Amino acid sequence: MPQIPTIGQRISKYQPINESAKGPALEPNKGYRLQKLGRDLYMITDNVYQSMFMVYDKGVVVVDAPPPYEQYIKKAIAEVTDKPITHVVYSHSHTDHIGGTKNLELGKDVAIIAHDETKRLLQRAKDPNRPVPTITFSDKYLLKAGNQTLELSYHGNGHEPGNIFIYAPEQKTLMVVDVVFPGWMPWRRFAVSQDVPGYFAQVEEINSMKWETLVSGHVQRTGSHADVALQLEFMNDLKREALKALQSTKPGEEIDEADKNNAWALFDNYIDRVAIQIVNALTPKWSTKLAAFDVYIWDQAYAMEQSLRIDQQ
Ligand SMILES: [Zn+2]
Repeated sequence: MPQIPTIGQRISKYQPINESAKGPALEPNKGYRLQKLGRDLYMITDNVYQSMFMVYDKGVVVVDAPPPYEQYIKKAIAEVTDKPITHVVYSHSHTDHIGGTKNLELGKDVAIIAHDETKRLLQRAKDPNRPVPTITFSDKYLLKAGNQTLELSYHGNGHEPGNIFIYAPEQKTLMVVDVVFPGWMPWRRFAVSQDVPGYFAQVEEINSMKWETLVSGHVQRTGSHADVALQLEFMNDLKREALKALQSTKPGEEIDEADKNNAWALFDNYIDRVAIQIVNALTPKWSTKLAAFDVYIWDQAYAMEQSLRIDQQ
């Protein structure tokens, strides 16, 4: 089995990235890559973050502005049109996906569209880099821009409150950020999901929806149904092994007598043994199937056992 460093343990070299997780290389000296997703719909990526823009007869709709490359968004748009940005859609409130919005130097009339919860979180944050939305919705919003359509919808708190699904029906492209990671292990602790049962439900929902291209907000390429199915299989294996480990492990074993009146230590010892069992069970099958399995499997194991204990999903 490969060496899987535990949390807090430095390692000199991680496992190599799977070929299946890699995307097309960035264009030299550009810092980003532009990918056409259908009629006048484009993904911009630096092969770590992903955002989109859609061109219609009078302007451009931008979806997210990740600060790692927001300076390239205008340049990327200029590659295909000289029309102005008229709308910005926020996938959710997190600064790593929309914190570049201020630097887009939007005109006064530009509509910023997001979920009600995103507005609430941004009003609280008072962050000049993330202007507060001017149009919000709670359930569904149909964005008609000239001859183009985006269907925005809310499916609950999977990642954080207000994280929406963005669907381009003609281009059969679905954008959902920070939930699915095509070819990769999800970012730590189910991408810092605030509601693990809600996260599982959203991945199931994305799996059962009809679309052809998934823009997931991260990693090196767009996603397919096979990518979602693979992540779901991993998640279900993880859940099953975590349940098994919780059932077969007893608190209070293998701990020094003197520590038994230290409830936190007793639980730490118990949960560590549960996590070790989970990681050992998953490593043979999964260490070569998802890129960066070794980087985040411990985080996923701890997030899973915790959710099973406290959410009883
Ligand atoms: Zn996020």
